[in-house]
Formats: sequence, C-alpha cells, structure tokens
Amino acid sequence: MQTIRVAEGCSRCPDLAANRRCIVHGYGPPNAKIVFVGEAPGYKGGDLTGVPFTRDRSGIRLQRLLIELGLSAETDPRVERPQLTCFVTNAVRCNPPSNRTPTQAEIGNCQSYLWQELSLLQPEIIVVLGNAAARDVFPTLVGHPAPPIRQVHAQVWARDGRVIVAARHPARASNADLDRLIMVLRPLLQG
Ligand code: URA
Repeated sequence: MQTIRVAEGCSRCPDLAANRRCIVHGYGPPNAKIVFVGEAPGYKGGDLTGVPFTRDRSGIRLQRLLIELGLSAETDPRVERPQLTCFVTNAVRCNPPSNRTPTQAEIGNCQSYLWQELSLLQPEIIVVLGNAAARDVFPTLVGHPAPPIRQVHAQVWARDGRVIVAARHPARASNADLDRLIMVLRPLLQG
C-alpha cells in the first residue's frame, strides 16, 4: 500500500515538528476513486503507526466503515497497514501537542500538501470528516465557507465533475450518523 510523501521533512509548524513522532502521510492506492480527509493524526493512532486513522478509537471506527463499504480488504478494523481501495489523509499531517485541535495557521501551513495529493489522485469523491477538514476544503472546492458539520452530515455537493461529501468526524459521529453516511456513499461508489 502506498503513501504520498508530499510533506517529507516538513518544518512549517515548529510546535508540530518538535512534538510529532512521525509525519503521517496520506495512505492508499494512487488510483483511488474516493478520498477521506480527517483532521490530524491522533497521539495514540497515526502518530505511532504512521498511517492515518489507525489504532485509536476514531481510526478503528473509520476502518470499520471502510470495511462495510467494501473499501478495505481487511475483516479486522485494527489492522495497522490495511489494504484499501480508497485514500485516507488529513488536513494536518502531524499530531499537535497534547492531542489538541490544530490551529487555523497549522491547517493553512499544511493545505498545499492536501492540494498536491488531490491533484495527483484526481478523486471523484472527497469526504471531509469533521469541521477542520470541511473548513479546509469547502472554500476552494465547494465555493463557500463550510457550514457547521453537524448541520450538514451526509450532505453531498457536486462541483466541477467532483462530489464533496460532508461527514461528522468518526470520533464524534453516532452509529446512526455512520449508517447514514454509508447509505449516502454506497450509491456514489457504485455510480
Ligand atoms: N486519526 C487521523 O488520522 N485523523 C483524525 O482526524 C483522527 C484520528
């Protein structure tokens, strides 16, 4: 399974560069039709494993969703280098100190890496997981600021031949939220 190492050696955010155990590059095959964008790697997750959305609670919840959608070849959501047919990345590639939410400046510093990934991948579907990812992606790809994510969970925007789906972050989504997201993504993946 491939990583896209656009942020190799990055030191744009001094606090993050000093705190991180590794840079968590985007992960998945380069021909992925769908990309999931999270917030930042977790202290008990990607910061240890080097793979976004693995090991910690939100990682296991997202991996379970990927298995249900047929986007993972695994049966166990705890696998730390899963075989995926989707791509998983983050608005910020380093774990912030004390696992805090990344600042707007940190998200801005990391944004060009996300655009580089998206221009390499050219995905048909981009799922933003949580407010940080939505705020990062919406102004450029949807054309207006992101609404609060809990108001637009599982809503879909079609823009420039691409589909953007807003979703609550797996750490905060209820099981019913995740079921709704699966119902919205299934037909998009078959289309
Ligand atoms: N792990 C990630 O990679 N991103 C998140 O937003 C949360 C956990």
